[in-house]
Formats: sequence, structure tokens, C-alpha cells
Amino acid sequence: MQDLTHYINGAHVKGTSGRFADVYNPATGDVQARVPLASAAELDTAVRVAAAAQPAWAATNPQRRARVMMKFVDLLHRDMDKLAEALSREHGKTLPDAAGDVQRGLEVVEYCIGAPQLLKGEFTDGAGPGIDMYSMRQPLGVSAGITPFNFPAMIPLWMFAPAIVCGNAFILKPSERDPSVPLMLAELMEEAGLPKGILQVVNGDKESVDAIIDHPIIQSIGFVGSTPIAEYIYGRGCSNGKRVQCFGGAKNHMIIMPDADMDQAADALIGAGYGAAGERCMAISVAVPVGEATANALIEKLKPRIDALKVGPYTAGKDVDYGPVVTAAAKANILKLIESGVAQGAELVVDGRDFSLQGYEEGFFVGPHLFDRVTKDMDIYQKEIFGPVLSVVRANDYEEALALAMDHEMGNGTAIYTRDGDAARDFANRVNVGMIGINVPIPVPLAYHTFGGWKKSVFGDLNQHGPDAFKFYTRTKTVTARWPSGIKEGGEFNFKPMD
Ligand code: NAD
Repeated sequence: MQDLTHYINGAHVKGTSGRFADVYNPATGDVQARVPLASAAELDTAVRVAAAAQPAWAATNPQRRARVMMKFVDLLHRDMDKLAEALSREHGKTLPDAAGDVQRGLEVVEYCIGAPQLLKGEFTDGAGPGIDMYSMRQPLGVSAGITPFNFPAMIPLWMFAPAIVCGNAFILKPSERDPSVPLMLAELMEEAGLPKGILQVVNGDKESVDAIIDHPIIQSIGFVGSTPIAEYIYGRGCSNGKRVQCFGGAKNHMIIMPDADMDQAADALIGAGYGAAGERCMAISVAVPVGEATANALIEKLKPRIDALKVGPYTAGKDVDYGPVVTAAAKANILKLIESGVAQGAELVVDGRDFSLQGYEEGFFVGPHLFDRVTKDMDIYQKEIFGPVLSVVRANDYEEALALAMDHEMGNGTAIYTRDGDAARDFANRVNVGMIGINVPIPVPLAYHTFGGWKKSVFGDLNQHGPDAFKFYTRTKTVTARWPSGIKEGGEFNFKPMD
């Protein structure tokens, strides 16, 4: 069995804490590696290396920093298949989906190549007699990122690429479920020309996360994961005086209006509900058809599509629609919620509970499930299931459908399927959710826009990637400069406008 490492100061470093976590192949259920879980002392070593390396990197001009990103993009393309395979092996998602995970991260790296332009400050010539005023964006110093299992390439890339191109050093604490790709990304960044110590990977669990939150040298923390941990890290990180942004869980609703193209809506729900086994923060987990006729038509369209879904290991390549979930514990939690749905009176229209795959009986596969007549009080409605389970909540009219999305405590993404521009426009304007799709089921914004939810899906002020990332990873310094021809009048004691 392989022992994974940390990546500190440009080298793979063995863990010294004596603590490890098992890394599974979710398709077979086998433990394929052990990942070391860092102690606070190991985290501290990485932080000190980062703090020593960062000033020289910050002093490297933005164009040179951007060139590292250019080269990194080439290397990501070169190693795409290798990265996707390593990702699928630990996560379980299909190979095309794993390549998409790398690709959506890569696009943020491409955006970061624009750093010389994006980091340009502001300048006011002649703000007063002989006075110029300018603002510049400076890096924070050492930043840290704590990432979830479900996008082991994309989310680390969303964090470290902007942080680093802005001149920071970055410590990545990836998910202990699938840490190999983050380690490979750190190697590639150095191959692209990044100096040692600017990107380090410290593997771990709560102990290393707490050490990050409390470390006095770390200036900022980015977190993506479940809402309770997001809330915890945000609270404790902020009270430690750090800049923190935490992105949490989701329960994304898709409203299907009576005038929607029902085939389009059903196809969209299949991809958005069951893709990646539902392990996406932008998955659609609640379908809200408006009117009984719409609901009946939708269920009729969904059933054969769900029956046709192919579930299997990533090694089957394109022949598989989705793979196993990440761990046996995740599977048990999903099955428990399904049982609660049945017990609480939802109608299980497609029952995947007895799903089993010959030759992969120990794998963490979960068959697709479809619930109808789900109501607001049920656990399957209130909780994030993070599995291949779609709930249909029937609404009598548009206002009732809108209210469902509005009243849920999560507010990551939502979508509406309709041919009516007025309904779509009203929905986009009124719904209190961060990312909206109009006839688009998974409205993940592209790299040059920003990504972030509302309500309990987010803690913090700025979104991920796009212009917000450049704000999050820099602070503004404003200089007022006067170059007088000679000090003629002596000191000034009053605070007054520059006239
Ligand atoms: P998680 O919260 O269990 O873990 C995320 C990270 O936090 C990991 O690095 C983990 O090691 C660490 N962690 C876990 N428990 C901790 C604790 N008690 N104290 C400190 N740190 C701890 O999340 P996950 O299961 O890896 O990922 C799935 C969740 O992430 C889902 O809720 C999903 O919606 C969410 N997610 C959100 C977004 C978004 O952008 N909003 C994107 C992807 C995933």
C-alpha cells in the first residue's frame, strides 16, 4: 500500500505525527493508500517556510508571476489524462467528469494570467496642488486553503492560482479522502517555475485545520466544504483576526414551469441530479414542477431516463454515467436518509436501494433514486443528501415554487425551466440564491465571473474566482504623495480638504 506525503519546501515529506487516514478506491472498496495527518508542528514548519519564501515572490513582477501560470496551463493540458485517472481512482467520478474537474480549475488559472492587468491600482493625478494619490493591491503574505473531497482539482486551483499570482504563499490542506491530485498540482506548479515554499500541501484533518485557524502568521483562509465546518472555521478564523471566506453546503431547487420543454427539463435533471453521483454543491436535488399536470408529465419523462442510467467504475470510461460515492460512510448516510424519506411518507418512485454491481460488491455504489410528493418537513428535503437522489416537491403555482427556494436555509444555486421570459426574469430578480440558471441546470459561473451562494451556503463577503479573488487575496494600500518644490509654509495642524 502506498504511503502518501506532504509537500513542503519543494519536496515530498513523510508525515511524522504517526496519524494516518485510509484513502479508498471507492469503486472496489479497497484501501489503496494512507495519507499522513499533520500535527500542529508539521503545519508550523510549512508556514515558516512559506513566510520565508513569500517576500521574494511578492517582489517578482506580476508579469513573471503570470508566466508561471501560463506554463502551468500547458502542464495541466499535458498531464490531463494522468490527473483525471488519479482523481477518479480516489474520488470515484467518471474519467470525463474528472477531466472536467481539472478543466474548470484550469480556466481559473487562465484567468490568473491576466494578473498584471487585474492587479493594476488606481491613480489620481493632481489630487491637490503637487499631490498625487494612488492605490495599490498588495499580497497578504501567507494564505491557506481547506478543500472538500468532491472537487479535488478544481477547488484547490480556484484558491491557490489567484492567491499565488497575487504574490502570496499558499498552504493547501486538501480533503484527506482524495489527496493525490493536490500533491500532483503542487509538483506541476514547481515544474512551471514556481519557487519552492510558495505552494505547499499539508495533509490532515481537524488537527491541522485548527492549527491553520490559530496560526498567527497565516493571514487568510479559504474554505469549501459542509456548512457546519464552514460556520466553525469562519467564526474562529475571524475572531483570530484573519480574512476568511467559507463556502458551505447546498440544496438546489429547479423550478419547472408548465410551459417548459419537458424533455429538456428532464434531461437537465438527469445530468444535474445524478451526475457525479449527486456529489456536487451545484447538483439539483429538488425538482419543483408547477401544477399537477407538469408534475405528472415530468415524472413520466424522468422514470425511463433514470432506468437507463449506467452506474459503474471509472475504468469503464465513457460507458458509465456516474460512479460510486466517496466512502462507505457517505453511502450509509445516503441510505439512511432514503429510509427516512420512505418512513416520513415520500413516494419512492425509483428505488435504487438494492443496487449491486457484479464484481464490485464492496464498492460504494448507490443506485439512482427518485422521490415524489416530498414535503418541506421531511429530512430528505431539509438536509443535503449529497447522493444520487432527486426529490420532487409539487407546487400549485409559481409563487409557491419560488417560496420553496426562498425559504430553504441554503442558497447556493437554483434554476428555472420555462419559455416565458417574464417568469424567468422575475425569478432571477427575486430569488435569494447566489447562482441562477435560466434553462441551465448547473449554473456554475465561468472563471471571469465569481462563484458563491447566499444564506447558509456562504460565510464571508467575497466570492471565489473572478475579480473577487483578486480582492480577497490582496489588500489595498493608498498613498498620498506630495513633491513640493520646497517647504515654504511650515507645519499644518488642521485636517482639511486638498484645495
Ligand atoms: P467537509 O466539511 O466534511 O470537509 C471539508 C474540509 O474540512 C476537508 O478538508 C476536511 O478535512 C475538513 N474538516 C472536516 N471536518 C472538520 C472539522 N470537524 N474541523 C475542521 N475541519 C474539518 O466536506 P466534504 O464532505 O469534503 O465536502 C462536501 C461538502 O462540501 C458538501 O456539503 C458540499 O455542498 C460542500 N461543497 C460546497 C461548495 C461550494 O462552493 N459552496 C463546493 C464544493 C463542495
